[in-house]
Amino acid sequence: MDDKYDASTFIATLNERIRPKSMPRCPICGGNQYTTPIQVATIPVGASLKGLSVGQTAPCAMVVCTKCGHVDCFAIGILGLLPKDDTKGGQNGQVDAND
Ligand SMILES: [Zn+2]
Repeated sequence: MDDKYDASTFIATLNERIRPKSMPRCPICGGNQYTTPIQVATIPVGASLKGLSVGQTAPCAMVVCTKCGHVDCFAIGILGLLPKDDTKGGQNGQVDAND
C-alpha cells in the first residue's frame, strides 16, 4: 500500500463499509452535502486523564459538512487504509468499546 493518503480511496471505502446506508444528515445543521480534505488528520491519544502530550495519534479522515463545517472523523486504521507497518500492536493500539 502506498504511504500517501488518498481521499478518494477513503470515500470509496467508507461508502462500501456503511452500505446500504449513506451519510446521515449533519447532526448540527441538518445539511446533507459533505466534502473531505485531501489531507489526513491526527487526534492525539493517551492513557492518562491528567493531560495528553503529543505522542501517539489516531490517524483520521474527515468528512466536513459544507453548510456548517461540522467535522466527522473516521479512524483510517479501522478502514484498512494504513500501511501495514503502522497497524502493528502498540502504535495504534485500541480497545474495543464492547470489552
Ligand atoms: Zn452541518
